[in-house]
Amino acid sequence: MTTRRLALFPPLLLLLSPLLVVEARPLLVFFIDALRYDYVDDLKSLPGFRQLLESGVKVDYMTPVFPSLSIPNFYSLMTGRYPDVHQMTGNYMWDEKSGKKFLLGTNPESALPLWWEGSEPLWVTLQKMGKRASMYNMPGCQVMIFGVRVWYCKPFVPNISATRLIQITEEALDDLGSGKADLAAVYYENLDKVGHYFGADTYPMKAAVQRLDAAMVALNSKLKEKNLVDKLNIMMFSDHGMTNLKSDRIIELDKLIVMSDIEKMVGRGPVVSVWPKGGKFESLRASLSRIKNMNTYTKQEIPARFHYKGGRFVSPLTLVAEPGWYIAENTAVVQAYLIHLSEDLQFGWHGYDNEHVDMRAFFFASGPDFGGLLDCSSELYKQILECYCHLLPH
Ligand code: ZN
Ligand code: ZN
Repeated sequence: MTTRRLALFPPLLLLLSPLLVVEARPLLVFFIDALRYDYVDDLKSLPGFRQLLESGVKVDYMTPVFPSLSIPNFYSLMTGRYPDVHQMTGNYMWDEKSGKKFLLGTNPESALPLWWEGSEPLWVTLQKMGKRASMYNMPGCQVMIFGVRVWYCKPFVPNISATRLIQITEEALDDLGSGKADLAAVYYENLDKVGHYFGADTYPMKAAVQRLDAAMVALNSKLKEKNLVDKLNIMMFSDHGMTNLKSDRIIELDKLIVMSDIEKMVGRGPVVSVWPKGGKFESLRASLSRIKNMNTYTKQEIPARFHYKGGRFVSPLTLVAEPGWYIAENTAVVQAYLIHLSEDLQFGWHGYDNEHVDMRAFFFASGPDFGGLLDCSSELYKQILECYCHLLPH
């Protein structure tokens, strides 16, 4: 196993020697929500990952894009672009012009091309090339993007079990093994749910990682059974990590500002987008700026390193909590989480400054085309896209 560190959009030290790629092989991609960079460090207790990594490479960590939320990161991983280019700047977004909303989950407005056509995702590029992608449980795989629908989409179902993950992984393997698809992608949400409800470093999270490992054990045996070990490549990404919150670290906006000065507020937790009412921008900005444990940015003030401020759905004011803090109108909106907890217990969240250590994501690749190192000066996500492109038929 080769291990390399991916610092902040650094020269990416991937993993793939282009010289080794003589023939395109099918590619299986896993998107594992909230698999923090260090969750599989203890390979002794994770036989599935251990075996996969014996023939692969793993980075020490991968820095997510800002905000360290699911949709912005998955879309960066599939487009090779930062959020200010691909326009998926949040899990919840509002288009001021049309009044339409993007909401993580199954809201029909979220399937409008409006949100998805900032950049072209890999599966659309493949379809246009006459290749086939199949997507299992991937949010948004049903969406028509630039007039193209993916060859096969098994629609997203929230929080599927590890047993279901094993089943859909086998279906994905069959697509690849039979030559029906060139790329198959599988999404698994469970660790994210567990982290939010129980916290980032808890027994339930450990148990969730064990269940994921059991799916990897099953994957290894299916690869052998279907004679695919040397015939396909596997990449596994996560979108972000997870950090602990305490229930007394909630910034309750309705106690600190005049809520009626707000025209629209989108999101909660680490990043909140605020559209002030007409004439209220300065006064709202001033009162928000006085709140401790969070930063209030105008569009111009958003740090350039976030690659965020140019996004078309970015609000006039953006609130970013310090790690471990949670911004909400009041505690009622976090009741769903709090009811599971006694006062001292922690629960988990992500979305903070992408440089925060606990936000770091996971990435490994294994298969016949991995083993060398490609040291390239381009930025991370472009490099990942390049990596797909080396691997897939072209
Ligand atoms: Zn996520
Ligand atoms: Zn989450």
